[in-house]
Amino acid sequence: MENTLRGCPVCRSKASCFSEYQHDSVFYDCPVCGRYELTLNGFRIQHNNHLAPYLYYNRFKNGLSHPEYRYHTTMGKELCDTYKNDFEKGDTTNGHPVHMDDDVVNNWYPKSFSERIDSILIRVSSLAKHIGHPVKFDNQEMLSLLFVDRKELPDDSDFPHKDSYEWREDKDCLLEADYVLDYLKERGYVKDYLHLRSETGVELTLTPKGYARVDELQKNTSYGRNALVAMKFGEDTLTLREAIRKGITDAGYNAVFIDEVEHIDFITPELLKYIQESKFVVVDLTHQNNGAYFEEGYAMGLGKPVIQLCQDGIRLHFDIAQKNTIMWKTECDIPQRLTNRIKATID
Ligand SMILES: [Zn+2]
Repeated sequence: MENTLRGCPVCRSKASCFSEYQHDSVFYDCPVCGRYELTLNGFRIQHNNHLAPYLYYNRFKNGLSHPEYRYHTTMGKELCDTYKNDFEKGDTTNGHPVHMDDDVVNNWYPKSFSERIDSILIRVSSLAKHIGHPVKFDNQEMLSLLFVDRKELPDDSDFPHKDSYEWREDKDCLLEADYVLDYLKERGYVKDYLHLRSETGVELTLTPKGYARVDELQKNTSYGRNALVAMKFGEDTLTLREAIRKGITDAGYNAVFIDEVEHIDFITPELLKYIQESKFVVVDLTHQNNGAYFEEGYAMGLGKPVIQLCQDGIRLHFDIAQKNTIMWKTECDIPQRLTNRIKATID
């Protein structure tokens, strides 16, 4: 492994970069994008302008007091699962990989201008140390925060040529950033930022109206593209997990499996937060798992739509047996039926 400092291929900040000869991959630790790895077959993802905001909003960064083992990677899902299992058994050699590909990134990406604005407000509020405190962003962080495209992509003929994109001019990107910032100010969501906008970045402070909007969004089920999945996790349920993931992805949403984003054994504030921020929850009750029952109950209490799945022949707890459930015989039944159900009840 060799450590060099060079431009992050996603955001152009100076990033630590390690070549991993064993996996034919390059590992980056970027101050804006966090820890991520591009494998040889994943280099094309660099053409995706959605990747920079995706990494920024979901980044894994080393904390001051604790090491971070998680990282985003384009390596295959199966290998990610293997390494994650090793990690859970105490072998940290390959860390805790979280798979990403174009579908994952595009499904996460806000579908409209107003969804972007909502995401920006939630991000700024979560970064403010105390209410009303300003948050500093350097230029690269600001571009990712504001969903500004950094790359000019070729029409399509050159794909999948590795270097076929060009970086947009800095001044064009910054103009676009100011356009979004102006909107935030005109709507009264942020304080006047102009005197705090410098060559190198910007300082943003939410107004009371901005905080009120954040409160509203966090209560409202229509925010976001994430769907939390509650089920039994383990090697015996990997096929089930992938079937559910496919059903959710095909419907245009992003499946969140809590063991892929947090290390947890049981219910934690993080889990509750993921449920609150999900547009809906998918629960598989086949294994009569207490956690899954709890998560379903919590989601229902918040008024989130819940889609139930269960293997045919399993008896459901009487409280929820009345609820319309997708009964599946084999995992192959799941993706199409789940996609249809999501489109019929959520969209
Ligand atoms: Zn970066």
